[in-house]
Amino acid sequence: MRKHDLIVIGAGPAGSTCAALSAMSGKKVLLLEASRFPRDKVCGDCLNPTGWPVLDELGIAEQVRSLPSTIPQKIRFSVVGAGQTEIPLPPSNESSPELVVRRRDLDALLAEHAIASGVTFQDGSPVTSLRKVSDLWEITTSLGESHLAKLVVAADGRNSVTARHLGMHAPLRRTARIGLQTHIPHPEGYDGTLEMRIYKNGYGGLADLGSGLANLCLVANDGAMKDLRKEAEEYYPVASAAAWRSVTPISRATARSVANDGVYLCGDAARVVEPFTGEGISFALRSGSLLAGILSSGESDSPGILLKKEELYRRGHRDLYGNGLLVNQLTRLLSECPRIAHTLAPLILGYPDLLSLLTSKVIRQQY
Ligand SMILES: Cc1cc2nc3c(=O)[nH]c(=O)nc-3n(C[C@H](O)[C@H](O)[C@H](O)COP(=O)(O)OP(=O)(O)OC[C@H]3O[C@@H](n4cnc5c(N)ncnc54)[C@H](O)[C@@H]3O)c2cc1C
Repeated sequence: MRKHDLIVIGAGPAGSTCAALSAMSGKKVLLLEASRFPRDKVCGDCLNPTGWPVLDELGIAEQVRSLPSTIPQKIRFSVVGAGQTEIPLPPSNESSPELVVRRRDLDALLAEHAIASGVTFQDGSPVTSLRKVSDLWEITTSLGESHLAKLVVAADGRNSVTARHLGMHAPLRRTARIGLQTHIPHPEGYDGTLEMRIYKNGYGGLADLGSGLANLCLVANDGAMKDLRKEAEEYYPVASAAAWRSVTPISRATARSVANDGVYLCGDAARVVEPFTGEGISFALRSGSLLAGILSSGESDSPGILLKKEELYRRGHRDLYGNGLLVNQLTRLLSECPRIAHTLAPLILGYPDLLSLLTSKVIRQQY
């Protein structure tokens, strides 16, 4: 059984960021990931500009800009049965644009950077249990391996095994919504514009990955997804053989506590944001950076200092997610009631200035 300063569970943007920055500050870090890398995941593949400062902090911004990607110039909002409106995206810095980049590539780069920073990375190693042994956490994987550390970062996504094991998640409130995602060849005549489409039963997004490939995402209530998928497949159209990935739930209340007894929740494991606005990766990167900064501060990890760090993270996390989520929360409220969203959306299509204003609140350089 090996002992580490810190064990990070999950190598998404939150986990790899926190692991790399912690290792860069001198900690001995183990990063455990369930999937085999590289892997795709359910995501719209859009990186919000507010994530760039963390990529700069990691020292990989240039490498991210070099990945196969596109920079959308405009966004098209459409509503089934009610037409569409196109608006230009807010101007961005050349070095920190809204970027459409495949998660397979972005997450692999983040994990490779963590390894280069000194992190021990083990993929294909799903964590199955955690238990406290004296003042250490014992983490066991499905391979039967056990690892020890005083500090654990759970960055294992919206269905965090860690949070569930330790009772840190609030119970789900509503009927779960589902997200579906696939990569498709450009539909005929597609000009690369970022698209958000409101259907009767949910919403969807199309984003250009370049080289003739686009990302198609759909979000709907559980019972309505079959119809929504059929509608989207006819609209774009999608070859029937396209492989869809799925995830649920789409909404989840903030965790009961994001830090407790040496275990810290980070990224989606702590707080899920509505996919519609494409901000989840940025929040994951920023929460990973925030947490690494707090864990690396000060010299000793005595019980008193650890309690202070937990309180610092709780406050920092509240501030991080408290700022700038207004439009995101509005889209969540609406998309949890798709019939109302579908009735109201055509009214908003007639006000491109309002759409531009709302878009500029989401696609922004500062947070
Ligand atoms: C339909 C949809 C579309 C979206 N579109 C966008 C978008 O366009 N832009 C955007 O910014 N955000 C988008 N998001 C949100 C975004 O995908 C997430 O917010 C982001 O991935 C969160 O990053 P994370 O690191 O917290 O978690 P994740 O990216 O979910 O990473 C968690 C990692 O933990 C691993 N893991 C899970 N369980 C275990 C275990 N037991 N042991 C070890 N490892 C484990 C997983 O394999 C995974 O690699 C979308 C979400 C959905 C559902």
